[in-house]
Amino acid sequence: TNKDAFASAQQPARTADDHLIEVGANVGAPEQVEEALRQGADSIGLLRTEFLFLERDSAPSEQEQYTIYRDIFQAMQQRPVVIRTFDIGGDKPAPYLEMAKEMNPFLGIRGARLALKHPPLFQSQLCALLRAGEGHRLRIMFPMVSTREEIKALQEQVKQAQATLEARKASYAREVEIGIMIEVPSAALMSDVLAPLVDFFSIGTNDLTQYVLASDRTNATVAYLADALHPAVLRLIRMVSDAAHAHGKWVGLCGELAGNPLATPVLLGLGLDEFSMTPGTIPLVKQRLRHYSTTQARDIALHALDLHDANEVHAYLASL
Ligand code: PEP
Ligand code: MG
Repeated sequence: TNKDAFASAQQPARTADDHLIEVGANVGAPEQVEEALRQGADSIGLLRTEFLFLERDSAPSEQEQYTIYRDIFQAMQQRPVVIRTFDIGGDKPAPYLEMAKEMNPFLGIRGARLALKHPPLFQSQLCALLRAGEGHRLRIMFPMVSTREEIKALQEQVKQAQATLEARKASYAREVEIGIMIEVPSAALMSDVLAPLVDFFSIGTNDLTQYVLASDRTNATVAYLADALHPAVLRLIRMVSDAAHAHGKWVGLCGELAGNPLATPVLLGLGLDEFSMTPGTIPLVKQRLRHYSTTQARDIALHALDLHDANEVHAYLASL
């Protein structure tokens, strides 16, 4: 029952054959951290930092950002925190940045593309993160990465922030994991090439689904196409998971699909190491993870991958 699920949610999720799966929370504002812990989050698997950057007339200073990140790390203690650098652009404009009007904003300057176009703002965030993460488990994640060149440029930016902090004699996190979201089809298809360059992947099925099925996530008229359980998406998840593991990296999933209990066995079977979701869905998904062994889940995933459309996948998963 939901009550039992809630009671055991504070414990980590181990599959029936004793594999530990990390279950994190997606957090979009500092007030949600407490709720994440209450629901049993082992970590924050996605901190959407846009709340700091949108709906204001000027950019937040490094110090303002630092204070907010530091409070979040203090609340999470030694639990890992994946902080995604600002995912502005697309349909999320920032008035203080010069942003051209675009015909197709979701195919335009957003996420890491925007960050690389605004180095001072990006540096302020990276410096604030590195300082705030000292003594904690900081994982920095870049959104909307589509090529290998971008990863190299993003890593250069991290090096530059580290050099700035050295020069200032500031204390900052020396150990940090650097990862990317896999939410663009090119990144999924090239994940074997990208894996050696990063510490982890986190699959963003909200955007990946929109791009794979060419279905604008803000357009209700085409929402019937944007199903993250479509075999086309599942095949990409398998590809990304296999590529990560072939290079000894961990792979998570932080799109809405991670919090769908129907999807739990198939995602477990595709080999994900971490699931990150809306806090309220954590207890139920942890319970689902405990119910399956990884071998059972792998058989379920293999079956789902062979189905021909999203409806077949839904019907199959509902029949389990
Ligand atoms: C995603 O695209 O799946 C994701 C988690 O990021 P967002 O929903 O913030 O774009
Ligand atoms: Mg996204």
